[in-house]
Amino acid sequence: MDSYESLETAVEPMKRRDLLLASAGIAGASAAPPSPPRISATIRRLNLRHTWTTVMSSSEYRDTFFLTYSRDGVTGTGEGAPINRYKEDAKSAQAAIESIRPWLIASDPWHFTKVMAAVFQKIQGEYAGKAALDIALLDWAGQKLGVPLYRYFGLDPADAPVTTFSIGIDTPEKTREKVREAEPFPVLKIKVGLNTDEATIDAVRSVTKKPLRVDANEGFKSKEEAVEKINWLEKQGVEFIEQPLPASGLQDMNWIRKRVHMPIIADESCLHPDDIPRIAPYFDGVNIKIDKCGGLLEGWRMIQIAKALGLKTMLGCMVSSSCAITAAAHLSPLVDYADLDGNLLIANDPYDGVKVVKGKLVLPNRPGLGIRQNKAQG
Ligand code: MG
Repeated sequence: MDSYESLETAVEPMKRRDLLLASAGIAGASAAPPSPPRISATIRRLNLRHTWTTVMSSSEYRDTFFLTYSRDGVTGTGEGAPINRYKEDAKSAQAAIESIRPWLIASDPWHFTKVMAAVFQKIQGEYAGKAALDIALLDWAGQKLGVPLYRYFGLDPADAPVTTFSIGIDTPEKTREKVREAEPFPVLKIKVGLNTDEATIDAVRSVTKKPLRVDANEGFKSKEEAVEKINWLEKQGVEFIEQPLPASGLQDMNWIRKRVHMPIIADESCLHPDDIPRIAPYFDGVNIKIDKCGGLLEGWRMIQIAKALGLKTMLGCMVSSSCAITAAAHLSPLVDYADLDGNLLIANDPYDGVKVVKGKLVLPNRPGLGIRQNKAQG
């Protein structure tokens, strides 16, 4: 009894003090007269280490959209990588956010879920712009609450998966060089879908025996070609393939799946939460991208819907900085597969955030996103 009492007296004052501090911090944030937030909406050019070629395009750089939201001494930072295929670019993302600036300034950032729902009503398309705003608001809230975003979502960072490292389409010689550079990554993702696929895979296999995943980016011309290529890829040690046919080719997917063993993951066929029930009968899994769906809140919903429908889940990315990649990585403990390497493909990353150690994503244990300015990039 004595020991119990002394423990009580020792613990109680601390509890009371912590409670007072905690309630002062949180209540203070919402009860103090709100200072108007500062919002910056900027475009940054990210230079690629190698020319990046897929079925869709070839480029030396990407322009992504950055948004910072500063209020009460805390700045949240978000980024979205616009996808040309959906008629978005960094300028249109910026214009979309500018169009709601006065409303955003008057909105309460603690109501971030309500705010984002309203943004989806106010802005058509422009998912990269929405993603940048969603990430900035969650980063701000996470910092104010003093918790990393994975903790806000109730996730265990130890569950974060291995990420693949992506190899864009290139000459066999360049492909071998890229595969050698990717030595620390236990699984590679190889872009295919052109008539160079055989030479590409041969070049990869001449350097490594690692498991491979491939992404055709809608590049196969027919269901027959898809079956032939997928069965050949299976013999090359490929675990699964993303999007063999164009997004519009849903009806051919069942025909293909009856003739191959390899799991097939939807990417371009599945952009938003309401696409998942429609495509679920035709695929084994979905590649969810924060830039594609418009933020972490939508990404979370997509993961939950996909899981409920028995689909495998994957978090993918666009070419972007450690801001957007770290944001997606905070949800990665939820998914089966991660392809979160877009920051590793660029030469001038403005931020430092999630790390990759022996291929595994290691989340920063700092409040919010946990990113820091990369001093080397100014
Ligand atoms: Mg893909």
